[in-house]
Amino acid sequence: MPLITEDLALCTQRLRDGHLLAMPTETVYGLAADARNDDAVHKVFALKGRPSSNPLIVHLHDAAQAGEWAALIPPQAARLMAAFWPGPLTLVLPARDDVLRSVTAGQNTVALRVPAHPLARELLQRFAGGLVAPSANRYMSISPTSAEHVAQQFAESDLHILDGGPCRVGLESTIVGVLPGEPPRLLREGMLTASEIERVLGEPLQHGAAGQLRVPGQHHKHYAPDTPALRFQQPPTDALTDPQCAWIWCGTPQITAGPALDLSADPEQYAQGLYAALYALDNLGVQRLLIQTPPQGEAWGAVHDRLARASQPLD
Ligand code: AMP
Ligand code: MG
Repeated sequence: MPLITEDLALCTQRLRDGHLLAMPTETVYGLAADARNDDAVHKVFALKGRPSSNPLIVHLHDAAQAGEWAALIPPQAARLMAAFWPGPLTLVLPARDDVLRSVTAGQNTVALRVPAHPLARELLQRFAGGLVAPSANRYMSISPTSAEHVAQQFAESDLHILDGGPCRVGLESTIVGVLPGEPPRLLREGMLTASEIERVLGEPLQHGAAGQLRVPGQHHKHYAPDTPALRFQQPPTDALTDPQCAWIWCGTPQITAGPALDLSADPEQYAQGLYAALYALDNLGVQRLLIQTPPQGEAWGAVHDRLARASQPLD
């Protein structure tokens, strides 16, 4: 059985001894391992069931450590680090030769992030090295935003879980690739938006991977609950009276026979609660999960991206 703990000294020692540790970050809980220990990194892939072709993000205590992992830091990357670290931004940079191939999936790039969660910062400071920390869920299932979600994912293991409460952001980090001689590229949407990043860069972001950049692991189906999930603009009227339908509303709930959660019409609050709502409703064992499609607009970009991976459109 997993152990949920707040003991930072124990958690740091577990990592030094080559064990995995689930750690809180402000985005989602990560399945952490020493990024310089090949055996430990392999345990991450094994426990998640994640294909080894899918590279991992290295988490650091501060930007000053980036040079231990990146072969060079282009000026635009330095600007983004200064503006957004600690925070929910991952940067893909040219990798040093000594970064483990298991971490980069054999690519010549490495992904780096300095998380903002106070317990993650404390852990990283004590550990004094880089930690890989992909979302602490089984491959293709929903990212955890609480210690209890992690325990549910790995109920059979003796994983230690550092309890940092519910995650503040609730969706995975924004990923930006910055390679020398190429325009910066937005590789994954997150709650930190392209406009906020462009304001700091002073130039437009390109969208998606191109040039020397490859971004494995962005599968279309991802983060999916077990219950078939459908998203709608207009609620199907027969479903409203069906107790076997569970609902996630975006600020304008209607009366339903089945269980329902309203995540609010505020994108930040919605993102914070989305995965917890999916866990809660998925656990009820109903036949269908119906999700009200949020409004358009940049602030909702990451939410739309995750909903598109978790559900099918109904209308
Ligand atoms: P996560 O699943 O949140 O751990 O994020 C991992 C994702 O970051 C991968 O699926 C890739 O899309 C991206 N990524 C990580 N490392 C690299 C890398 N070295 N080069 C390009 N993309 C990367
Ligand atoms: Mg993940």
